[in-house]
Amino acid sequence: MPNCGKHLTYDSPSGDDTYFGEAAHIRGEKPKAARYDASMTDAERDHVDNLLYLCTEHHTIIDDAPADWPTSTLMDLKAKHERLVRDAMEGAFPDIAFPELQNAVAWVSNQPPAPNGSFDLTAPNEKIKKNALSNGSRHIVAAGLMSRETVANYVEAETQLDPEFPERLKAGFLEEYFKRRKEGHKGDELFELMCAFAQRGLRKQADRTAGVAVMVYLFEICDVFEK
Ligand SMILES: [Zn+2]
Repeated sequence: MPNCGKHLTYDSPSGDDTYFGEAAHIRGEKPKAARYDASMTDAERDHVDNLLYLCTEHHTIIDDAPADWPTSTLMDLKAKHERLVRDAMEGAFPDIAFPELQNAVAWVSNQPPAPNGSFDLTAPNEKIKKNALSNGSRHIVAAGLMSRETVANYVEAETQLDPEFPERLKAGFLEEYFKRRKEGHKGDELFELMCAFAQRGLRKQADRTAGVAVMVYLFEICDVFEK
């Protein structure tokens, strides 16, 4: 609940941690409860998607004055808070690039660069337009494509040992892509967020460059981003 700020957990020095918030139903639990939705099953009512963790006072308020606290308002509060927490977690634990990407980066950044970096931007050009990317982003795509062969070789070698590898690598990026798109990001801004994701937890510049190369490779083969 915005502006409440009450801590709902007790961290005990003796190990007896406890909590004193309450699981409040957004759409009510019983027929006479606030925001009750007859079309839901009991399982849906008790699902975490329909629950808010609130202090006792706010739990009482939203249930006793439901006109002030309709379902849409509470869903919105829940979504905003969860986004806030997720962003804070990502900030606090920046070292969690997913394993497929970490492995790809470790390999790519140790390979010699392609001899003359000849590549052709015509194929991705179409995609660049579809994704509304500016020249700034085009430079990043061009730079990433310098390592296209290297990334492709790695993915191919890894696939021999683990046929599911490319799917998992792609899925790691897609999850982030759809999450960010759902938040309303698009164009250069979305591309920028994906670059940041591809470099997350990577400290050495060589690794960061390799991370972006892996993302651009997936961009080019049309597995991530708008086709
Ligand atoms: Zn409260």
